[in-house]
Amino acid sequence: MTATIIATMTTDQYLSGDGLARTSHGAQVPASDVLTWAGGDYRLLLAVLDTVQGVTHYSSTRRLFSENQRLVRHAIDGGCTFPDCPTPALWCEVDHTIDYAESGTTDVRLAGLACDYDNRERKKQGWRPVHIQGRVAWIPPRWIDPEQTPRFNNLHRPDDLR
Ligand SMILES: [Zn+2]
Repeated sequence: MTATIIATMTTDQYLSGDGLARTSHGAQVPASDVLTWAGGDYRLLLAVLDTVQGVTHYSSTRRLFSENQRLVRHAIDGGCTFPDCPTPALWCEVDHTIDYAESGTTDVRLAGLACDYDNRERKKQGWRPVHIQGRVAWIPPRWIDPEQTPRFNNLHRPDDLR
């Protein structure tokens, strides 16, 4: 039987096996264990994050995201992208940050993870997700922040990428 494990770690952790990787469940596990699992009967998507996150291009004309696109967003976002939301990746939806009706594309670079509540309610409140250097940030409505400074969620990031 093959299991899918999604883990995120830094380049240094990948090269040394030191430190903790973060799974899409939100758990922190030794990076050395993840690298060992990669050699077994596991199906592993290992995302090595650098300070500049290049996203492999996955685009299509389909409205729904493919499994690979979902896995890429799990690896990049690690969990809900709304500021300070602790919801781990497996409890999130992949959201079009630009509505499909407007963009006409299902591009992983224009997507982000959001929990059901934040995906539904935050947009009603006037929050707007945007992409800044490969990461999803949320722009608050003017009644919360007149400057509308984009906010990131750093709860799901490895410590040295915050
Ligand atoms: Zn959330």
